Amino acid sequence: MYCSLETELRALELQTGYYSLRQIKAATNNFDNSNKIGEGGFGSVYKGVLSDGTVIAVKQLSAKSKQGNREFVNEIGMISALQHPNLVKLFGCCIEGNQLLLIYEYLENNCLARALFGRPEQRLNLDWPTRNKICLGIAKGLAYLHEESRLKIVHRDIKATNVLLDKDLNAKISDFGLAKLDEEENTHISTRIAGTIGYMAPEYAMRGYLTDKADVYSFGIVALEIVSGKSNTNYRPKEEFVYLLDWAYVLAEQGNLLELVDPILGSNYSKKEALRMLNLSLLCANPSPTLRPSMSSVVSMLEGKIPVQAPVVKRDGQMNVEDMRFRAIEVLSQDSQTRVSNISKDSHEQVSMDGPWIDSSVSLSSSKDETKDHSSSSRLLPDLYNVNLD
Ligand code: ATP
Repeated sequence: MYCSLETELRALELQTGYYSLRQIKAATNNFDNSNKIGEGGFGSVYKGVLSDGTVIAVKQLSAKSKQGNREFVNEIGMISALQHPNLVKLFGCCIEGNQLLLIYEYLENNCLARALFGRPEQRLNLDWPTRNKICLGIAKGLAYLHEESRLKIVHRDIKATNVLLDKDLNAKISDFGLAKLDEEENTHISTRIAGTIGYMAPEYAMRGYLTDKADVYSFGIVALEIVSGKSNTNYRPKEEFVYLLDWAYVLAEQGNLLELVDPILGSNYSKKEALRMLNLSLLCANPSPTLRPSMSSVVSMLEGKIPVQAPVVKRDGQMNVEDMRFRAIEVLSQDSQTRVSNISKDSHEQVSMDGPWIDSSVSLSSSKDETKDHSSSSRLLPDLYNVNLD
């Protein structure tokens, strides 16, 4: 297994830069703790400076974790092929001994989550034009991944911690480790569910039904967070609302959507643009994937080139929006590990649930999967070794 990993990596050397462990140790002062800038689901992230002065971010993965290795190869292969101003650039990789490292461009302003709702000293004072720019940047990055790049990619884990900000506060999407090629023949059947609660589209969370519209949903949540300065999952405006999105639906019905705008902005924002972004985020977070716009349409809407269609939300049908969200969250937060591993244990289990879904059943075929919960309890990361898309 390890040999084939090395072979795969050697092949990738042609496309990506290859760094020696010595170079990376020198750049990070032997992975000194003072250079540690973050900790993700797969390991620590260090800041470093190469001998030519280039500032880098080094993502260290544990070689002991098979899951990490697979992610590693996945990430290198895909990111190195992708170049866009709104995607984090992968400079290269290093594999030596038990070290598996990814070398990225370093982004000065850390992640969007920290800028918006980090500790007070970490927050950035993001004015309205900057929020607009960040939102548009994420949309452009996703439109590229879904529609413009040679490889069509569904990111699957769009969230505020996976949006990094450069020194000019341009948004760059990171963490393609979970991205999966959106192969023609497998456009909507996913073998493994991976994502983060609060950002996952209901059809993906509950049934593993994966299309690029799952990213559109997550984008809608991030857009809502950008306008409001609040985290969808950690902010509870009133007892009766579990989520920011929930509250947003209620305010939309009452015609008071602007109540959501981050109070920090005072009146220093464009009402027209804020309403556009809020309506757009609700449209993107529509429970029906079909009714969500494509990311290129989202870009056009944000640029004001086409109007934002009113979000179509049926609140009182057989199974309303809340039911779907709550069912999704129930499945994930209360019984997430059991459920995913149960699904993956049976290699050809047909999962069928009632509800207004587009397909009637999804075949989840991945054997020997093992679901791991990494850094946070809300994260689902099944094993990526046994990819079987038959
Ligand atoms: P998860 O693994 O659940 O996606 P995450 O996105 O926070 O969580 P990582 O992508 O490993 O995990 O990143 C951890 C943290 O390291 C980020 O939140 C960010 O603060 C920092 N970081 C990661 N990449 C860079 C980079 N290229 N430049 C600057 N900081 C970075």
